[in-house]
Amino acid sequence: MPPIRLGLVGVGKIARDQHFPAIAATEGIELAAVASRSASLEEVPSFASQSEMLAGAEIDAVALCTPPQVRHELALEALKAGKHVILEKPPGATLSEMDDLVAAAKAEGVSLFATWHSRFSPAVEPATEWLSARRAKKVRIVWKEDVRRWHPGQDWIWEPGGLGVFDPGINALSIATAILPQPFFLTKAALTFPENRQAPIAADLAFTDATGVDFTAEFDWRQEGPQTWDITIETDDGGRLALSEGGKKLILNDQPTVDAPDAEYRGIYAHFVDLVGSQRSDVDVSPLRHVADAFMLGHRQITEPFFDDGGKA
Ligand code: NAP
Repeated sequence: MPPIRLGLVGVGKIARDQHFPAIAATEGIELAAVASRSASLEEVPSFASQSEMLAGAEIDAVALCTPPQVRHELALEALKAGKHVILEKPPGATLSEMDDLVAAAKAEGVSLFATWHSRFSPAVEPATEWLSARRAKKVRIVWKEDVRRWHPGQDWIWEPGGLGVFDPGINALSIATAILPQPFFLTKAALTFPENRQAPIAADLAFTDATGVDFTAEFDWRQEGPQTWDITIETDDGGRLALSEGGKKLILNDQPTVDAPDAEYRGIYAHFVDLVGSQRSDVDVSPLRHVADAFMLGHRQITEPFFDDGGKA
């Protein structure tokens, strides 16, 4: 099979940091064009918009690396042009727009892949396997990072649909929904909004499930110094799981089990090649559903304004 010719839309941080190197390292797919409002690449034809790229480039698929608020319109346009589509996480700004995209992909007979990059981290598969034979009794997620370090100047992330601290927090939820053997649901949420922003800077969540699991998640964007992306789980047979560094490290019953480098985006592109080759789609909105629940149920508190230029804005 010839490689899938991919057009990428939105040449921002994640496109440069992860997508371009992962595409280059993955068999069965090649970068054939980009669409960007601000950048052009020497290696491939560059277009000012996706519409121009669809009209002018020889491509089979599109990867959308834009903010989530503009993703549905772009995805629909690409699907209707008969292209397979990769969506960065979160897959969209609302849950219902996802149904629309799934229907469009089906009608066009193309593959749609709503990616969750953290699910491709090396600890996730062994953690899933270990938990499949056990019942989680207690789950603790602590996801604390410095927004100034990871999202400098990204105004969209503070706008409606940008998710605020849930932009990283949803990565933890994408892991939890993958590794826990049964569905869980939100019971309580406290969301902290800077007084000048539309999205939260911190969130404290409580979940449970049909067996009464004691499950909390703390998301905070104000953490300077060492960054924390940890999930710990105690099981009813006395087992202990500790997943750290966002899924790169796994300790089971105090035994280091996984400590591997990041290859998440290579996993994403290999899976996409497989989906296209087998004419399938992969769309799981469960992490986004938990975030929507938090916005529905959350008690809101207001905190001091946030400026990402050290207070000069
Ligand atoms: P970013 O640096 O702000 O880049 C997004 C790019 O999308 C922009 O550079 C712009 O590229 C394009 N764009 C199109 N319409 C836009 C609009 N209305 N407003 C702003 N940009 C627009 O953001 P990012 O960090 O790459 O994040 C993009 C997506 O990847 C988000 O959904 C995010 O959750 C996800 N993601 C990010 C990270 C990370 O570490 N940053 C990690 C994993 C996933 P052009 O100028 O080329 O048009």
